Amino acid sequence: MANDFFGQIDPPQRLLMGPGPVNVHPRVLRAMAADMLGQFDPEMTTYMNETMALYRQVFMTQNRWTFLVDGTARAGIEAALVSLVEPGSKILIVRAGRFGLLLSEIAERIGAEICTLDLPWGEVATLEQIEEALIAHRPQVFACIHGDTSTTMAQPLDGVGALCRKYDVLSYVDATATLGGMPVATDVWGVDVITGGLQKCMGGPPGSAPITISDRAAEHIMARRHVEAGIRSGDMADGSRARIPSNYFDLAMVMDYWSEKRLNHHTEATTMLYGAREAARVMLEEGLDARFARHKAAGAAMVAGLRAMGLKVFGQDAYRMTNVTGVWIPEGVEGEPVRQQMRDDFGIEIGTAFGPLAGKIWRIGAMGYNAKKHNVLLTLGALETCLATQGYAVKRGAGVDAALATCRT
Ligand SMILES: *Cc1c(COP(=O)(O)O)cnc(C)c1O
Repeated sequence: MANDFFGQIDPPQRLLMGPGPVNVHPRVLRAMAADMLGQFDPEMTTYMNETMALYRQVFMTQNRWTFLVDGTARAGIEAALVSLVEPGSKILIVRAGRFGLLLSEIAERIGAEICTLDLPWGEVATLEQIEEALIAHRPQVFACIHGDTSTTMAQPLDGVGALCRKYDVLSYVDATATLGGMPVATDVWGVDVITGGLQKCMGGPPGSAPITISDRAAEHIMARRHVEAGIRSGDMADGSRARIPSNYFDLAMVMDYWSEKRLNHHTEATTMLYGAREAARVMLEEGLDARFARHKAAGAAMVAGLRAMGLKVFGQDAYRMTNVTGVWIPEGVEGEPVRQQMRDDFGIEIGTAFGPLAGKIWRIGAMGYNAKKHNVLLTLGALETCLATQGYAVKRGAGVDAALATCRT
């Protein structure tokens, strides 16, 4: 007889080679099985401080304010924007993909005046274009995406922070898809606020958003601090700045929570903190350079393999993210049956696409724990068979051979 308490969670074995989430490093899963601590337990306080120290290294920064926003990557994005951008103030957003559009959607809800630097999907902005837009619009905040998984392009960010400072503009970057896979050089870039996630190149599960905040951005955010009636005491803002229109995402309050003050805000998501801490430990043990090189090698093998199969890779080689590759669905082939056969016959997931690229490209990732030679080869081999099933004339073995060849050089 059927019971009404369903079965245990026992997901089918999948190799997740899409744009995230990806398979989680086993050490991260194990860390997340540890028991709870009270949120002011000295051991928990130690873990929180260690997590801040670890993420300073992950973000390549000295920023004191480097911690976790509880929630998926989008929680980090929303916390950053709602805390930086005041209603009625101007924000300049680079939009060259789905996530740039997300930034403007969030800023619109905040009631900001939105200025955009719009580019066709697959392009990136030049420093000159950014400077022109800063001069034309004179915004208070500049925002862009580092690696936009919707286009698989990475926006170059060298010089962007300095440019923003020159015009007295606070800068924000969403590095969700690159953190842990490509250098996110916070201090070198001079970007004020950067947020990430765990479920891409950090090799963790979705649900935690690491963030780093420069002192000057923290000062701006703290000036918007307010006192929660009857609960908190502290420095009241002088009233000249608009109160942050969110409680959960009020980074001034969250910073008070992560500071020596340990002012209660929400309950830190204990299990996610364990996972985020371990994901950073795994990364730093591997070494940043080795980790970036591993992603680069996996991405290069994927690109070589796809091209050897006669497929056309989307976008510009010079700006390609190393950890996810867009590939045009060849003429005469339906995208979805291929994805379905990849899943059903091989247990491999690859990604679809959004917006103008929907139905036109697949997005194939090799991120975090999955950015390894054997996963790339398995994916290429499986894709070859699925393409052949669809009647695409593919030279058997060419993709895997070409990918293998890149690993030998
Ligand atoms: C995947 C991704 C996100 C996802 O946010 P979630 O809330 O974790 O789903 C945000 N930004 C970029 C650039 C991404 O690639």
